[in-house]
This record gives sequence, C-alpha cells and structure tokens, in this order.
Amino acid sequence: MSDKEIWFETLHSGFGQFFSIKKTLYHNKTDHQDLIIFENDVMGRVMALDGVVQTTERDEFIYHEMMAHIPIFAHGKAKRILIIGGGDGGMLREVCRHQGVEHITMVEIDANVVEFCREYLPHHSAGSYEDPRFNLVIEDGVNFVNQTELKFDVIISDCTDPIGPGESLFTSDFYQGCARCLNENGIFVAQNGVCFLQQDEAVNSHQKLANYFEDVSFYQAAIPTYYGGIMTFAWASQNPQLRHHQLTTIESRFTASGMHCRYYNPAIHLGSFALPQYLQDALSQ
Ligand code: SAM
Repeated sequence: MSDKEIWFETLHSGFGQFFSIKKTLYHNKTDHQDLIIFENDVMGRVMALDGVVQTTERDEFIYHEMMAHIPIFAHGKAKRILIIGGGDGGMLREVCRHQGVEHITMVEIDANVVEFCREYLPHHSAGSYEDPRFNLVIEDGVNFVNQTELKFDVIISDCTDPIGPGESLFTSDFYQGCARCLNENGIFVAQNGVCFLQQDEAVNSHQKLANYFEDVSFYQAAIPTYYGGIMTFAWASQNPQLRHHQLTTIESRFTASGMHCRYYNPAIHLGSFALPQYLQDALSQ
C-alpha cells in the first residue's frame, strides 16, 4: 500500500471500505456532525458525515437519479417536491430537470453541509441552488413535516443513516408527518440502507410506514460506495396503482421529459421494484 493517507469507513463494525486520500479539501465538526470532503483517485471527490460515506462524484448519479425520477415519473403530475436532507445538492439537481415541477423545498438540518458541498462538490448542485423554484429551509426534517401547512406531491428523504441527526428521519413521528403533508396521490421515498447488511432498517421502516400509508414497499439499485449490495429505497403512498404502472406509461412520460439519464430508464424503473427473496421473506414476517 502506498504511503498515502487512508480513510476507513466502518459503518458496519468488522466489515468496511477504505479510500486513499489524495487531498483533504475540508474537514471540520459542524454544529451537528463531522464533515470531511476529500479527493480520491478512483471515486473523485468524496463527502462523509460522522465517518460514513454520503456521496462521491463518480457514483452519485445512480442514487440521485433513482430517488428523484422514480417517484416523479410514477406520479406523472408532480408539481410540489419536498427534499428532506439532500445537503450535497445532487438530489436538487435531478429534481430541477423536471420542467413540470413548480416548487421545490429542501429541508436540511446542517447549513455547513450545504455551504461546503456548494464549494467543494460543485458538480452535485450544478447551479440548481439558483433555480427560482427552489426554497431552502435549515431545520430538522421531522419538525418541518409536523409543523408545515405546505402540501407536496413527492417527498424525498435523502437522509443519512439512522445515527446522529438522521435518527429522527426513521421514526413514526417523521413518517406520520410526511403522510400529513402529502397531497392526494402523493408519494414518499427514502434512502433505507443496504438491505443485506441493514435488513432491520428496512423491516422497521416497513412496519412503521404501514401505519400511515396504504401501499408500502421498496425499490432498489446497486451504488458502489453504499457497499454490501443493493441499496433499498422505501416507497409509500395511499394509492397502490402508483407503484404498478405499465412500461408504456413510464416510457411515454420519460420521452416527453426529453431527459437522458446515466442510470435511470423506464425498464430500470419497473425492474427496480423487484426485490430479493430474503428481503421479501423478512418483510412478510
Ligand atoms: N446519499 C446519502 C446517503 O444515502 O446516505 C445522503 C446524502 S445527504 C448528504 C444526507 C443529508 O441529511 C446530510 O446533509 C445531513 O445533514 C442531512 N440530515 C441528517 N439528519 C437530518 C434531519 N434530521 N433533518 C434534515 N436533514 C438531515
């Protein structure tokens, strides 16, 4: 191994990943978490919070395309979007690509994440913070969804893992608040961990969400730096039909958008709802 500085992630004690640090761009404790942004020869710039990788320049497109486009194309007429978390700006960039969207609110607990990701991860937000439809709220997401009078068509919980400030975004209080501020035919999606290693997270979210939503399930994608297999995204709505579109429906909506993505396409949209049997068995316990 070269004499380069090595950064180790051990989200799962005893099994982790490492990155050699070519250059540290920023490393400090914010009011809420330890924030580091560094350069790596393979994955580009990497941002981690409290020792857990949040995003890398090389593979962020998979995660952000899957969490933004699946609910918005499934909804079909989404005009008002709420992003919880999302401080690196990648989710906002993908949501802004939808011309039919008229209003975007992002509720991020840590202003420093927004500030330093704008500076050191400029390709994530790619100018979307200047979008006139955008509104930033610095607040704990659970407080916002339980207090706001605003209503939304899609809520995207682009949160950290359920440790530290992210813990509140995996609670019944948060899920109930999201159900409260969704419009009719609204859709909630959330980052819900790598189910092979964090299966309990998926089971717990599924059980809690089922108390407030008619239709609860997951969809999935493999994102290299969320190591350990496929990442599961929680899905919840009051209308099961929103999860069971025909391929032709999604194809016509995608074509009409004029978008070309690097990971997302209509076949991936439908196929991502197919879940491994071990997860299906765990969810049906
Ligand atoms: N892609 C990442 C993942 O899958 O783990 C998430 C990226 S994004 C950086 C996560 C954001 O959630 C961070 O900016 C963090 O500050 C924010 N966050 C954590 N807890 C929060 C809370 N309770 N309310 C609002 N934002 C929160």
